[in-house]
Amino acid sequence: MIARLSKVVAAVLLSTSVVFASSNPDWTAPLEPFHIAGNLYYVGSRDLAAYLIVTPRGNILINANLESSPPLIRQSVEKLGFKWSDTAILLSSQAHFDHVGGAAEVQRETHAKYMVMDSDVKVVESGGAASFDLPDMHFPKAHVDRVLHDGDAIRLGGSEIIAHKTAGHTEGCTSFTFRVKEDGRPFDVVIVGGWSSNPGVRYVAADGKLPSYPSIEQDFRHTFKTLAHLHVDIFLGAHGVYFGLLPKLEHGARTNPSLWIDPTGFHKALAAKQGLFEHEVDKEKRTSDSKLEVQEGRVLVHQNQGGEENQ
Ligand SMILES: [Zn+2]
Repeated sequence: MIARLSKVVAAVLLSTSVVFASSNPDWTAPLEPFHIAGNLYYVGSRDLAAYLIVTPRGNILINANLESSPPLIRQSVEKLGFKWSDTAILLSSQAHFDHVGGAAEVQRETHAKYMVMDSDVKVVESGGAASFDLPDMHFPKAHVDRVLHDGDAIRLGGSEIIAHKTAGHTEGCTSFTFRVKEDGRPFDVVIVGGWSSNPGVRYVAADGKLPSYPSIEQDFRHTFKTLAHLHVDIFLGAHGVYFGLLPKLEHGARTNPSLWIDPTGFHKALAAKQGLFEHEVDKEKRTSDSKLEVQEGRVLVHQNQGGEENQ
């Protein structure tokens, strides 16, 4: 009975993931790879971003994307004239199936060292099962070679990338910053890891419900603060929609890469995401008639007296 039930559950989950993937055709639709600036290239699909940083000591790949994505990414790398086997380091923006699903295959084919932010490691190594919001969206488990912490530097062949923990979207969601040089001029690049939540995620304990994970609200606040303090010239992200990939390409960014320089777009998008977050937090607090508090693993319920404010 249990076996039969779990088969039914598995079938439902499988169809959910199929719907998830097929409702985003841009995730799997190929995009002609292109040069962004300096030693930085785009090798992702029409929405699932992947980046290649080329160095004399091997290349750094940011994001392996879906389980089905590695052949597409490899094609893009080779179209640009680089060797897939030169991929020395693999990084991830966030531990969701659409960014880390292909990691195990990339590792197997290239022997790249996989470096993942501390709080995302359990999700990557459990094949998605340890995810707080998408525990049923499974992908091949991957072994993490180096655990990253907030502010860590990844160095290879003269390039240095800083991994900023910008948690909330996933517990170890990571934004990367680094400097590229184009015609002798330096540009500061940001690759935003994620700055919003999937449907159904909660931020505060209220209305008899717990937050999706205990520190999610503080994590998002820290993320917005971290991102607001960055100096940004070139604005990129884990999904093309974060930074207007397709509109910018339509406006000619392939031949005019200065369109990627968009600090205004970055700060506008950041303000919009923060506004949305504050709106959701307020909404969750307003619908509250009781307050849950977690103390040393125990859940305490307090009744609100006349709508007093939470701290
Ligand atoms: Zn995600």
